[in-house]
Amino acid sequence: ADAGRMPYPGEELWTLALYAIGVTAYAALQGHLTKRMRNLVRVFAKAQEGDFSAQYDEAADQMPDPVTIIGRAYNRMRAHLEAIVLTDPLSGCFNRRGLNQLAEREVSRAIRGKKHVAVLAIDVDHFKHINDEYGHLTGDEVIREVGALLRETAREVDVVARIGGEEFTILAPDSNDEGALILAERVMQAFRSHRFHSLPPERRITTSVGVAAAPARDDEVAKTLLARADEALYVAKRSGRDRAVVWHAGMRAFDA
Ligand code: GH3
Ligand code: MG
Ligand code: MG
Repeated sequence: ADAGRMPYPGEELWTLALYAIGVTAYAALQGHLTKRMRNLVRVFAKAQEGDFSAQYDEAADQMPDPVTIIGRAYNRMRAHLEAIVLTDPLSGCFNRRGLNQLAEREVSRAIRGKKHVAVLAIDVDHFKHINDEYGHLTGDEVIREVGALLRETAREVDVVARIGGEEFTILAPDSNDEGALILAERVMQAFRSHRFHSLPPERRITTSVGVAAAPARDDEVAKTLLARADEALYVAKRSGRDRAVVWHAGMRAFDA
């Protein structure tokens, strides 16, 4: 046009073709980038909810770029963040969030395998006395030791969580009433014979345990068992402490 002549139709076609190729390539690249960014946002959104199960898929990135770098960094931080968010710092056991997350996983596994699942509600007996006799800091030390003792006593597959002051829960996969009661007896025996380093040698601590187990049929089973174990724990406390009580239908833990 500068030269004062119209381009030949062939030239025009070439220009158009080049332009179309450019636009297509750009759109494809943008599309790929958007998809990867979406993946990144997805893992971060899950992490925000405390769910660190998702990983950024590094293998899908042929050309490492800033998105890959962020994804990789996230993957490295993942395990560390998970431990912080799901663990109770004092006892080293899972916290309530950790318990909920692991219960979900264990329950779906139990449903698939048509297995039982059990819950133990554990509450240290007369813990107020420990605080009163030795002070709150020693009380904290005892809670730390209790956490370690419970993790040692439970099986590898059991989920041990601290859900309140001196209240712990053990979620025991593949356990019926009998199996869970054996675990509860083992826990109580461990307490009776344990020498707490933060307390005088002769000072012993006992614990009460509420036990509930059921076949895993639906997602609600964990919630139901937590409530039942709590009810059974209440009965254990009321009937004298240092004992385990298994929940049964018709149990009257609370006065009407
Ligand atoms: P019971 O046998 O009925 O369980 O008696 P208890 O004294 O243990 O009573 P309860 O379980 O109702 O109360 C637990 C007490 O534990 C209340 C509080 O003084 C103390 N406590 C709760 N959380 C903590 C904590 O994080 N650190 C310390 N040191 N003490 C705590
Ligand atoms: Mg208590
Ligand atoms: Mg308590």
